[in-house]
Amino acid sequence: MKEPTTADGRTVSRRNYLKLGAGTALSLPLAGCFGFGDDSATDMSGSPSDGSSLTIIKDGTLVPVDPDVGVQEHADVLIEDGEIVEIADTIDEADAEIVDASDAIVLPGFVNSHLHTWQASVRGTTGDWTFSEYLELMLGDVSSRYEPEDAYLGNLFGAVEQLHTGTTTVLDWFHIANSPDHTDRAIDGLEDAGIRSVFAHGPPGDDGDTWWEASTEPHPSDIERLHDERFPANDGLVTLAMGIRGPDYATDEVVEDDITLGRELDIPISMHIGSLGPGGIYNLEELDLLGSDLNYVHGNRFEQEEFELIGDSGGSISITPEVEMQMGMGMPVLGEAIAAGATPTLGVDITSNVSGEMFTQMRMALQAQRALDNQPAVERNEQIESVSLDARRALELATIEGARALGMEDRIGSITPGKRADIVLLRTDDITTAPVHDPVETAVFQAGTSTVDTVLVDGRIVKQDGVVHNKAIETHWSAFEQSGADIIDESVVEPERP
Ligand SMILES: [Zn+2]
Repeated sequence: MKEPTTADGRTVSRRNYLKLGAGTALSLPLAGCFGFGDDSATDMSGSPSDGSSLTIIKDGTLVPVDPDVGVQEHADVLIEDGEIVEIADTIDEADAEIVDASDAIVLPGFVNSHLHTWQASVRGTTGDWTFSEYLELMLGDVSSRYEPEDAYLGNLFGAVEQLHTGTTTVLDWFHIANSPDHTDRAIDGLEDAGIRSVFAHGPPGDDGDTWWEASTEPHPSDIERLHDERFPANDGLVTLAMGIRGPDYATDEVVEDDITLGRELDIPISMHIGSLGPGGIYNLEELDLLGSDLNYVHGNRFEQEEFELIGDSGGSISITPEVEMQMGMGMPVLGEAIAAGATPTLGVDITSNVSGEMFTQMRMALQAQRALDNQPAVERNEQIESVSLDARRALELATIEGARALGMEDRIGSITPGKRADIVLLRTDDITTAPVHDPVETAVFQAGTSTVDTVLVDGRIVKQDGVVHNKAIETHWSAFEQSGADIIDESVVEPERP
């Protein structure tokens, strides 16, 4: 369609045209993917005289990941003060900010249930590594090179990458808690990014042997300071969790103490487990520690009974398929998790390896499981009768199941009235997505970061017209690049540079 123009002849996008028409002062997006002028996309929301904020996402193809709402064409979504309040064919509110979604799929933001956000600074260094190399070189060396400001920069840029790629909630598994300053600056990075996040405070990264080899060190007591001083209510956009070493990396005594502490603090607990070998869940069972507050990362080498123990206790499993398949952990365990009734969720894990976006993880998890399920027929030289998991299920893994794993399913993970407005618009007028026949398939199999047009977190627009608005990114861009270069130069990692 022909783009409209402003009075002075500039061509503007249709979305901005609507905004200009509504009388909202808004500068045109800058070139590239990041706008820097106004970090507060909150100012882009309508502010009626009664002080409330109203936004209508208008005329979109709605993929709500809520069966009670259902997929709808030409749907309007009304947001008031960050809460989804109504979904209908047509909603008119004179004072509302209008976000035109007529060329977009409207879906809940992705929930990335496992990311070491700090590793944004060392992107593209571990893509050819094994898991043993990672433990030795990343957790035994690179992680010790981070200063508090490096932790801030890694978390800021890594979290903004998440927003840019359509993830609105991330569990940040922070294992460079080398000092309270490192931790505080990392949390600052998440806050300045404006992402909804669960900050899983982990161990220091300054001594791999002490913290990751049958560790006898209990979890750092600094988590009690965080709980009491930084997260006293623990109900903001960033909340506190605990990243423990667990049975694969610490003694039973430490595991028991750590989980007991996490439960005293009443926060979710996450651990890496089952990628070195089986049996860790039996330890937890013998210690009578299994529970629905436990999130297990990877689990590739679990025995069947371990999956059943997780399912019976209501735990969740974070599957990070791309990293697991590369590093020799084993095949992703999506099928086992679903069969056992464990909550199956997806994560990126490390951007030192792979892209931070969830589209790839969603597709890899789905297709790897289909391949596993197809294999018996292949070996009999028979044709399969149907695929085992569908696109709708893949989208659930990347949204509502992640919310469930983080104990946030009553607030996020679907576009449902009463939930917070964490919403993504995917362009449907893009060369990679048009024409759309089945919006769920388009979202799962065709869409990617280049089609992430608009992102809202808690009703606040953080990306619009393909442009992320974050002033901290502009301020710190050079420092971020220098930080990454310095860390790698000081470490034993030797990237192949031309
Ligand atoms: Zn991890």
